[in-house]
Amino acid sequence: MNGMADWETDWEPVIGLEIHVQLATRSKIFSGAATAYGAAPNTQACAVDLGLPGVLPVLNEAAVRMAVKFGLAVEARIARRSIFARKNYFYPDLPKGYQISQYELPIVEGGRLEIRLEDGTTKVVGITRAHLEEDAGKSLHEDFHGLSGIDLNRAGTPLLEVVSEPDLRSAKEAVAYMKKLHTLVRYLEICDGNMQEGSFRCDANVSVRRRGQHEFGTRTELKNLNSFRFVERAIRYEIERQIDILEGGGSVVQETRLYDPERDETRPMRSKEEAFDYRYFPDPDLLPLVLEEGFIESVRATLPELPDAKRERFVYEYGLSPYEAEVLTASRELADYFEAAEQASESETKLTAHWVMGDLLGALNKAGLEITQSPVTASMLGGLVRRIGDGTISGKIAKQVFEAMWRGEGDADRIIETKGLRQVTDSAAIEKVVDEVLAAHPQQVEQYRAGKEKLFGFFVGQVMKATQGKANPAQVNEILRRKLG
Ligand code: ADP
Ligand code: MG
Repeated sequence: MNGMADWETDWEPVIGLEIHVQLATRSKIFSGAATAYGAAPNTQACAVDLGLPGVLPVLNEAAVRMAVKFGLAVEARIARRSIFARKNYFYPDLPKGYQISQYELPIVEGGRLEIRLEDGTTKVVGITRAHLEEDAGKSLHEDFHGLSGIDLNRAGTPLLEVVSEPDLRSAKEAVAYMKKLHTLVRYLEICDGNMQEGSFRCDANVSVRRRGQHEFGTRTELKNLNSFRFVERAIRYEIERQIDILEGGGSVVQETRLYDPERDETRPMRSKEEAFDYRYFPDPDLLPLVLEEGFIESVRATLPELPDAKRERFVYEYGLSPYEAEVLTASRELADYFEAAEQASESETKLTAHWVMGDLLGALNKAGLEITQSPVTASMLGGLVRRIGDGTISGKIAKQVFEAMWRGEGDADRIIETKGLRQVTDSAAIEKVVDEVLAAHPQQVEQYRAGKEKLFGFFVGQVMKATQGKANPAQVNEILRRKLG
């Protein structure tokens, strides 16, 4: 049944994601300590982050601006007044005994994000809320022989927790939503998006219900999924686990589970009975956060062109297909690269899109490089495309030039000149080579004239070989047809 799992006619998954977006501020949310990743343990935690008595948190304005920027980008309500609350629990990497978060009055409420599904249709996913909070430290279980190490460098790092409505209906939709959010926060430059370093991580809430049933089923929460692949696999596993239980007459236990990528399964972490009572209450050390219109408008003025708007513009301004536009706007850097290359190519738009999406992204992918690290700059690639467009080189020779540019041998024009790769368009010269080829292969000429038309390709190949691929292919065809006709 067209790739559907056998349960899909009877059961409908319901998924809501909570995504922790680490905000790209230089200092922490309530202290002046640095947020840079990778420093030696406990060198970037100050008295506030360590939870020492007698110190007070001071809110970082940059984190507030980033939260507001996000809220505006997803068309949410920006709370004119929001409250920081203490979420109380004990854990070794949380020396204060509480995490400062927002609970009843978050800074952002009621937004939307449009995702594109595999069949090309779009779907709007509701964003319930996004609230500011501080991250905890990290427990290190390796290298300490039966003990645990505590690194508090991450304590106090600003997070924006983005909570979606339970609007997602498959693992694939969940991944599409997560990718879209990932693209958006990078466009907004509020998060570096580095998932290996934990700058963008996801908890997935999953339940299933019988098709046609209105009420949601009991959900489980899958914690700390830090790659798109794991999100998809963990959700898929969890959906089938719950269906198996329900079809066997059992009931799903509301609990927190962990995904184990090695075994590709989820395992219980804690159940509802063991769940913490966080005893939230407003943090007495922090005033309510009150935002004035002028502040919100000053943030609005910093909004860049958003991914959806850019994608639409790429379709109507450049005449690209929706698919090409989607690929080329996947990141702001890639979109900027395309636009710069297109300009350098002197409006060889389609050809530029083709080269960026094909040879360039392929080479970057193979080398494990980001677009910003490309050894071939946008103006270099545009320069190459321009020479294909104006007939200086053929598409085939262009591949050779691209490789030379990648190796650092200079720009396209220089490589074309020094290697003598300029396309031969002098018809007298091509005609001379054609004559030589035909004279050297009298037998094939005879067979061709007797009706073996397949041999045409052979003659083209011989001419190309004799000219090291430099003869203009259209002219070669034309001259060969005339001579053989
Ligand atoms: P909590 O505060 O306990 O984490 P929330 O009500 O804030 O609970 O919901 C957290 C996430 O769980 C949200 O993303 C929401 O969409 C999702 N969610 C709520 N109920 C369900 C359900 N029955 N099935 C799947 N996801 C759900
Ligand atoms: Mg939650």
